[in-house]
This record gives sequence, C-alpha cells and structure tokens, in this order.
Amino acid sequence: MVHKARSHSTPNYGKWWRCEECAKRTFADKAAAKRAIREMRRDGEPVMHHYAACSGNGRHVGHIPENVRRGYVTRADVYGAAA
Ligand SMILES: [Zn+2]
Repeated sequence: MVHKARSHSTPNYGKWWRCEECAKRTFADKAAAKRAIREMRRDGEPVMHHYAACSGNGRHVGHIPENVRRGYVTRADVYGAAA
C-alpha cells in the first residue's frame, strides 16, 4: 500500500461500519477501536474514547464529552474497564 499524505477524507482506520441504531462509527472490538483512535490522533483528531455500541455489536468511537473534558465526570467513567 502506497502511503501518501493522510487526508481526513480518506481515513484508514481498519474495518468499521455505521451502527444500525445510531449511525456512529463502530469497530469490531476494543483492540480495533484503540488502533483507530491512535490513527485518528495521528491525523490530528483530539483524543477519542470507545464504548459499547448501543446495538450491542462492537464498539463506538467518539469525541470525549465536554463534561469529561471539564472534569465533571472522570475518564474512568467513560473508559470503564478498558482504561
Ligand atoms: Zn450506536
């Protein structure tokens, strides 16, 4: 695979799909989600977190909610056992 300059329009975060419930980006498992988060950070995205998909199938990846960033909720509350 030829590596050109990374672009947000052509992400390469491995296998993912849109959640059938909420259309959020969904990864197969924690390892896949973490890999994708690392790639996103490399692309200049802020730190993301992953959590159980609402459909019960896979992990969602999303931006850390504002209340976590402000310290109202601990990161452990968001990351849970995956921290
Ligand atoms: Zn969902």
